[in-house]
Amino acid sequence: MSNIEKIHCLIIGSGPAGYTAAIYAARANMNPVIYTGAQPGGQLMTTTDVENFPGYPEAVTGPGLMADLQKQAENVGAEVRFGTASSVEFSKDGGVHKVWIDEEKEIHADAVIISTGATAKYLGLENESRLAASGGGVSACAVCDGFFYKGKETIIVGAGDSACEEALYLSNLCPTVHMLVRKPDGGMRASRIMADRVKAKDNIKIYWSTETVDVLGDEFVTGAKVKNNVTGQEQEIAADGFFVAIGHTPNTTFMNGQLTLDDDGYIITTKGSTKTNLEGVFACGDVQDRIYRQAITAAGTGCMAALDAERYLSEKTA
Ligand code: NDP
Repeated sequence: MSNIEKIHCLIIGSGPAGYTAAIYAARANMNPVIYTGAQPGGQLMTTTDVENFPGYPEAVTGPGLMADLQKQAENVGAEVRFGTASSVEFSKDGGVHKVWIDEEKEIHADAVIISTGATAKYLGLENESRLAASGGGVSACAVCDGFFYKGKETIIVGAGDSACEEALYLSNLCPTVHMLVRKPDGGMRASRIMADRVKAKDNIKIYWSTETVDVLGDEFVTGAKVKNNVTGQEQEIAADGFFVAIGHTPNTTFMNGQLTLDDDGYIITTKGSTKTNLEGVFACGDVQDRIYRQAITAAGTGCMAALDAERYLSEKTA
């Protein structure tokens, strides 16, 4: 029996970008099918309260928001399926795009929207993962969670543009932001202007040549044990929040290099649209956004992807 299915509009990934694309595509009669991926709902499923998604005056939990988006997509006719895209064979000339789900099912799609997101990198320490999973004060997004640490001490790890941006954000909320930089003074990877802004902030205390040995705290973060990698000296820093800003990995490996990516693996889209280098393949959300990475911006690009796909499909069949 053939395991091939023809789908008009296939959406891969179920974060805010994917569900928003599904809502718009369903309302445009594109019969979208959305595959959720290994973590249905995406990064927000590990977030506690979301206070910055418009339309929720009383805040909403990350899983609650994603459940609402899924329900909304289904209510307007999108089909949500559990499964993960494992490989693809995209057409180079706007023909049918082949996508395999869980290495088994073969889908032939007229248009594909990629919304597979990006995965925040963590240090890989046991207590860090435990306290991140339990909502105990470890986070990879200061813009999302920083507000909960207003008036409290925080630690941030990293020295790229993201870490600098997030340290500056936290510095407007917290009495002291302890910034752990593993390189010696002058070795920040961030752009000069961002590094200078961080250095100029009185309440950002930079610890050069410093690595995290452990995150401290049972139920909630109480601080971190750190080590100077030049002198070997260890110390404990007390804090209520531990933020990690050491980069993200866009989830693109299943495409095996068939789309044009930038040096860090983000899908390159044409400016002002969600078009990739291949006709009929569109990308939205964090998998193509290294700068904003917010639920609402992901949702916005999800809408754009569905509109771009609709235009593409109607021109193709005209
Ligand atoms: P980057 O890869 O640029 O920086 C990662 C930082 O994390 C580096 O300082 C790195 O240190 C540090 N790091 C990595 N692993 C560890 C570890 N295990 N322990 C401690 N530190 C670690 O990631 P970003 O997310 O900052 O930026 C990604 C891209 O997005 C960049 O091109 C950046 O310019 C861009 N960006 C642009 C923004 C804007 O224009 N507004 C905002 C945010 C990002 P080391 O240098 O020692 O390797």
